[in-house]
Amino acid sequence: MTDRGTLAAFLAGVLLAGIAMWASFSAGIARVLPDQVVRLEMPGRQGRIGLPRVEGPPDASRPLVVIDAGHGGHDPGASGQGGEREKNTTLMLAKAVRDALLAGGRVRVALTRDEDRFLVLEERADIAQRLGADLFISLHADAAQSTTARGATVYTLSDKASDSVAEALAARENRADTVNGVKLADKNAVVSTILVDLARRDMRGRSQRFGELVVREGGDAVRFHEQPQREAAFIVLKSLDLPSALIEAGYISNVEDAQSMRDPRWLEQFSGSVARAIEIFLAEGQAPALAGPDANLVTSAP
Ligand SMILES: [Zn+2]
Repeated sequence: MTDRGTLAAFLAGVLLAGIAMWASFSAGIARVLPDQVVRLEMPGRQGRIGLPRVEGPPDASRPLVVIDAGHGGHDPGASGQGGEREKNTTLMLAKAVRDALLAGGRVRVALTRDEDRFLVLEERADIAQRLGADLFISLHADAAQSTTARGATVYTLSDKASDSVAEALAARENRADTVNGVKLADKNAVVSTILVDLARRDMRGRSQRFGELVVREGGDAVRFHEQPQREAAFIVLKSLDLPSALIEAGYISNVEDAQSMRDPRWLEQFSGSVARAIEIFLAEGQAPALAGPDANLVTSAP
């Protein structure tokens, strides 16, 4: 009996010491290793984070595009061989497209982030939804196992990926919502009604139209992948009921592409062509009767 009592006391002591150590460890780890601790902006009392600034003409009837710089904060995205980080490249691209649009003065623009910070994928889409955006684009710079893979690709949403490469990419981009294997946001419950299905099909068609314009306006100035328009199941686009696309500006893992993306002339051409595609697309949406094969005419309409 005495032996058992001693043993029980000993085990309880070990347990208490363990609990005390863990408590002090978890409280102190943020102080000791600040870089290893993930800080997330948690939704406020309303359950949502603040909305970004809308820039451009102060006329609320002008169409609004929300531009999302992929990744950020503790999520660096893909890495280049020269140490480039996708999160920095995407922010640079987003700001360049915004500036090109503001210079045009036709549409209103908001960025989901304009600094190096982390946003959960669904928060990005939520910003576009709450601002009542007419178009959402998410900018990325891909990585591929093959370092020879090159060129830009426009992805639009689909339940099924158009090929295994697109599927692998979607899986990689979707992982940004996971921290240490823990899922940060639940997927929206799938509401399956005929109306929702029809609306989705319409959105899909319009998103693909936007993709066509990006490829057309990019022309030879922006080097595109041999299959420039693809479909995949991206979480960042999933909950939206507005036209959307995810543009991979190039492969950050490819030395030439990474070099292009650092070149101010390439950046100007890329952002200029994406801005033109956005303007034409939004003009088509405002004046559907005018939207013909030569949609350039629409942008010059009052
Ligand atoms: Zn990415």
